[in-house]
Amino acid sequence: MIELLKKLMLTHGVSGREDKIRELIRAQIEPYCDEITVDPVGNLIAHIKGEGKKIMLGAHMDEIGYFATHITEKGFIKVSPIGGINYLSGAFSSVVSENGVYGVLAPTKTDELPKADSVYIDIGAKSKRQAENKVKVGDFFVHTPSVKRLLGTRYVGRPFDDRVGCLVLIEAIKEIKNPKNDLYFVFTVQEEVGCKGARPATYTVEPDIAIALDVTRTDDKIGSDTLNVKIGDGPTIKIKDASVICSHELVVKMREIAKANNIKYQDEMLSRGGTDTSSMQIARRGTRAGAISIPCGFIHTNNEMIDINDVRGAIKLVKALVREL
Ligand SMILES: [Zn+2]
Repeated sequence: MIELLKKLMLTHGVSGREDKIRELIRAQIEPYCDEITVDPVGNLIAHIKGEGKKIMLGAHMDEIGYFATHITEKGFIKVSPIGGINYLSGAFSSVVSENGVYGVLAPTKTDELPKADSVYIDIGAKSKRQAENKVKVGDFFVHTPSVKRLLGTRYVGRPFDDRVGCLVLIEAIKEIKNPKNDLYFVFTVQEEVGCKGARPATYTVEPDIAIALDVTRTDDKIGSDTLNVKIGDGPTIKIKDASVICSHELVVKMREIAKANNIKYQDEMLSRGGTDTSSMQIARRGTRAGAISIPCGFIHTNNEMIDINDVRGAIKLVKALVREL
């Protein structure tokens, strides 16, 4: 599982350019699914046939990053942000382009918090011409991915958001055999730029129940929010975030199933942030929607932090839900 997590983390896929990560996920799940399709916006939709309720589980494939917009005379690359960039964490950090060109995200001023319009990527070019040989306008960059083990079962790196969600679904798919319910697993595009892919995916699948897998904030890190979620205390069952109020009926049922299967979970009541759950809920005529989150420290920085036991708990919870919902 750790090896697969590393592969998922190290494969780039900024919003709108999810091809490589999609192919990796597809290769992993293909032997276990009855049918796999890619829809017109790029969502990967996998079907494991059953007779009961139509249950859809989703995780987003994309990550935050940058698009090159302009190359200066000196050979610096001006970029436009894709998704919610944390410039405090981003300043002076390593970035890498889709073609493997490394650079440093450098702010123009060091005495104030960098903003989108005051950072450039320095790839070490001596001139505009040299830079243009390596990077074209429209090329994407991501923060250089990494995974490192910390104390115990904790890991740090990026982008855990939302490759851990993808990992949970892939591992669940591998273990589910002859399900009673009719199962769809969707790996969505462009969550980081407004939960876009989940909407057409839900329209296509038309599920009875939809559940998104993503990361959530915690209250046990320096500078973190006040909420009742801790890294290592289990996956969460989302009640609400800034984008969605989950189906109460579904939340109650998810808790019952977690308890009946002795799966440790936390209640997630988040005042900011959003996930694909919001798009799943309002697609088509509306869907009963909920979410499971992996607690994650320092979200959208270069050093997101998770506990692998929360990932294991989420896999168990997904398997129990598709069996018992
Ligand atoms: Zn996410």
